[in-house]
Amino acid sequence: MINEKILDGRLIAGRIYEKISATIKTKHLQPKLSIIQVGNNSASNIYVNKKLRIAKELGISANLYKFDIDAKKDEIIDRIERCNQEYSGTIVQLPLPNHLDSSEIINNIHPDLDVDGLTIVNQGLLFNGHPNICPCTPLGVVTLLKNYNIDILGKHVVIVGRSNLVGKPLMQMMLHEDATVTLCHSKTNNLKDITSSADILISATGCAKFIKRDFVKENAIVVDIGISYVNNKISGDVDFDDVFQKVSKITPVPGGVGPMTVAMLMYNTMKVAENFA
Ligand code: NDP
Repeated sequence: MINEKILDGRLIAGRIYEKISATIKTKHLQPKLSIIQVGNNSASNIYVNKKLRIAKELGISANLYKFDIDAKKDEIIDRIERCNQEYSGTIVQLPLPNHLDSSEIINNIHPDLDVDGLTIVNQGLLFNGHPNICPCTPLGVVTLLKNYNIDILGKHVVIVGRSNLVGKPLMQMMLHEDATVTLCHSKTNNLKDITSSADILISATGCAKFIKRDFVKENAIVVDIGISYVNNKISGDVDFDDVFQKVSKITPVPGGVGPMTVAMLMYNTMKVAENFA
């Protein structure tokens, strides 16, 4: 019973890796991934190492360019420009230290190599209904739902969180799938009334376990993007145990959206190599 309700990101990511690996081999692609990291944030180190490991397993040539915490923006931009010249898919591991403006740095990545889909050009194309490279987490959510044959068309999708990284691009992607979308944030009035009308409720706030049973509609599909650490233990936005009986499908944390985000990074990197082949 429990497994029937779980949207298993690890399982779907594994299937996607098999396809990526096969495509790289059969098409003789030479995908490249450059990761720009500034500082030594321990969570970032874990994510970066994971990306490097999986890339290598898939046959993607991955390089880490690690800068000191007090690195100047010009030296980072210089590195990004060299990655552009090497036709390498490139990401900037977030968050950056406070003295650096992430948007200013990221927008130096050539839009056709922007495998995180976060440059203004790619965000604009997505907003315009002509997506080029889509941001990994929203793409991971849509891909996960599709792999479970979950119908999005015409559904009321409520997204909690309006960041450029997650909430806003996800809103666009859901509109693209013909959902009716409501985007909520910290100033939303009567949040519970809105979330409890969702056919598909997606939360990306970073507030541990704040989505309780009374926030969800009976038989809703719940996607938990949030990651926070409480007493050194990973937690999502959703109180999984509290909502579980009420929902029809739910993503766990860990093992839901997280693995899909990494899988979409590898997918975007492979697509870049295909486009330049
Ligand atoms: P941000 O901090 O940029 O955005 C958080 C959003 O949540 C904001 O729009 C904020 O509203 C809203 N919010 C915060 N508190 C509340 C509340 N109590 N009620 C309603 N809305 C609220 O975070 P990100 O979008 O970058 O990330 C969100 C979460 O997703 C984090 O936990 C992050 O770690 C996780 N994440 C997970 C990934 C994965 O692969 N699983 C990938 C990326 C992120 P306002 O705009 O008004 O401030």
